[in-house]
Amino acid sequence: MVCEMAARKIIHIDMDAFYASVEQRDDPQLHGKPVVRAERLCPNATFLLPDFPRYRAVSSQVREIFKRHTDLIEPLSLDEAYLDVSENKTGLPTATQVARTIREQIRSELSLTASAGVAPNKFLAKIASDRKKPNGLFVIQPEEIDSFLLPLPVDRLPGVGKVTEEKLKHLEVQTIADLRRMDLPTLEGRFGRYGVRLYELARGIDNSEVVPDRPTQSISAEDTFEQDVLLAEMEPMIRKLAEHTWTASRKESQLKTGLPIRCSP
Ligand SMILES: [Mg+2]
Repeated sequence: MVCEMAARKIIHIDMDAFYASVEQRDDPQLHGKPVVRAERLCPNATFLLPDFPRYRAVSSQVREIFKRHTDLIEPLSLDEAYLDVSENKTGLPTATQVARTIREQIRSELSLTASAGVAPNKFLAKIASDRKKPNGLFVIQPEEIDSFLLPLPVDRLPGVGKVTEEKLKHLEVQTIADLRRMDLPTLEGRFGRYGVRLYELARGIDNSEVVPDRPTQSISAEDTFEQDVLLAEMEPMIRKLAEHTWTASRKESQLKTGLPIRCSP
């Protein structure tokens, strides 16, 4: 007898440029001004002090919206979370409708936008939420996993950084389709236990559960300055703070989210 587990329904929600969007929402002077990743565009950018108590408060409001739909919420940072909505509290018939409703509630109640990915597991949901970003929704149905996954470059898989990517390149593996052609003993021989994970990920398999109690990984220290501080002066402090409070993997994604930066006129 073959027992098949019911397909799970996972949503990954990612607030769009969270810190900058909260700043813009709450300060009319910032409307229409570039506040994200501005250091590359305007070298004389002035750093706008990050207000983490406020971001945390908004993050809690977002969490309250999630809680209307499920108790299985795993926050990854202030602006990102996995939700298991295999069963949802409101009786909506599909995970897609749950995701749509959550995005609409965030927009109408908090005047912020979020992107969402819906999939049968966590890693696919996370890749999906990035697909239509910002302010988008992308759904991967179980039967669509292969057509979605196989053409992607291997660096989209969780845990594949520069080193693993380079090692895979030597095995002539650049896409997930290439990775799927590798057999398990070869991958295990090269990458140990992570080789097993790679083998599964290449097949769209990720049995990791949504863990509600996982602590939020985000900056928790605050500093207040009398005046605006130039980005160049702040950078060493931010880096030091980041090294103390972020794990290496989260650091990059938080920086991408963008600390609010205001361009000098
Ligand atoms: Mg985000």
